[in-house]
Amino acid sequence: GAERTKNVLILMSDTGGGHRASAEAIRDAFQIEFGDEYRIFVKDVWKEYTGWPLNNMERSYKFMVKHVQLWKVAFHSTSPRWIHSCYLAAIAAYYAKEVEAGLMEYKPDIIISVHPLMQHIPLWVLKWQGLQKKVIFVTVITDLTTCHPTWFHPGVNRCYCSSEEVAKRASLDGLEESQIRVFGLPIRPSFARAVLSKDQLREELEMDPDLPAVLLMGGGEGMGPVKKTALALGESLFDKELGKPIGQLIIICGRNKTLASTLETEQWKIPVKVRGFETQMEKWMGACDCIITKAGPGTIAEALIRGLPIILNDYIPGQEKGNVPYVVDNGAGVFTRSPKETARIVTEWFSTKKDELKRMSENALKLAQPEAVFNIVKDMHELACQRGPLANIPYMLTSSFTDLI
Ligand code: UDP
Repeated sequence: GAERTKNVLILMSDTGGGHRASAEAIRDAFQIEFGDEYRIFVKDVWKEYTGWPLNNMERSYKFMVKHVQLWKVAFHSTSPRWIHSCYLAAIAAYYAKEVEAGLMEYKPDIIISVHPLMQHIPLWVLKWQGLQKKVIFVTVITDLTTCHPTWFHPGVNRCYCSSEEVAKRASLDGLEESQIRVFGLPIRPSFARAVLSKDQLREELEMDPDLPAVLLMGGGEGMGPVKKTALALGESLFDKELGKPIGQLIIICGRNKTLASTLETEQWKIPVKVRGFETQMEKWMGACDCIITKAGPGTIAEALIRGLPIILNDYIPGQEKGNVPYVVDNGAGVFTRSPKETARIVTEWFSTKKDELKRMSENALKLAQPEAVFNIVKDMHELACQRGPLANIPYMLTSSFTDLI
């Protein structure tokens, strides 16, 4: 039949690299699975349509995670529901018209939130518009373990949880079993569907073909003790007795330009590559043998898919704290804040403890969920089909909601 193309609006924000990566993963999976059946819009609605503090989240977040004590207080003090509900209700009332216009412009059949602060306000707008029965609203949680309670809203059609731990929190917070699905964290399809071999990738990326390789990074913003760790590895991966390197180092600095430029001027005894923001992370991970990173959910889930043992060297308080035991207790990696210790572990993995590296790599693959993003979009498609033939949704800009304000 002549089915109408459905509109999907994905609400994200550029706080960290993870939300955008998840949004793009969902968009790409929709295109692979369903082609022209869906038209996808990825939007930072707050940035485009509202004023302070919503349009400023990216900067406030960057500032706060740099001063971790501030972030700790913000994360935990806003955890009780009555506090964040009041705060978000006040903002919703103030920016109602703008948010509403932002949502309505795309006439969405499905709204997907991949951000902890994008449940309450859009759901209020739908309610006031009388559209909550017509528009499908789902949340895809992009944290792995200890996520903030604003992720959970009882008004959603589905809440896609990245792990059993997140699902447990969702049901403790009042979501019904019928609303909860656990498929894993959505990772870009290029990760799940990568086919190149390690040898081919190393040639393409101009790496040493034989030396074991360690990938060092710190999320989208290049956070954590990257520089000190790089310098320690530069020493420890050089065998002084034999006078030659026993490993090579890839450093991906993300958007941290200062970090990249200071590392580029260093003199190294081992093969080192310093890179800025890379768009093909699946290739770099596929070419390496282990990874050092802060405990970002996106990077962890990607590394697991590639079977990389993980050294976690930092975490953002709150939402990333639980990722440390998730990796360590499942035998897929270790945690240490010390750059010297990190360098020692990698050196052992590349020399006397190759069996440990192999075992952790197998454990990583056991935890990996490369199909998560496909299962998520297939489930959304089923939801959309259950709604039956979607009549044109009566989006009206002069709604009772805006009249209320
Ligand atoms: N990333 C990337 N290119 C880079 C650095 C990071 O594509 O140069 C991606 C990385 O693959 C991951 C995301 O950015 O998907 C980082 O997300 P994570 O949850 O690890 O940390 P965040 O940056 O959100 O704190």
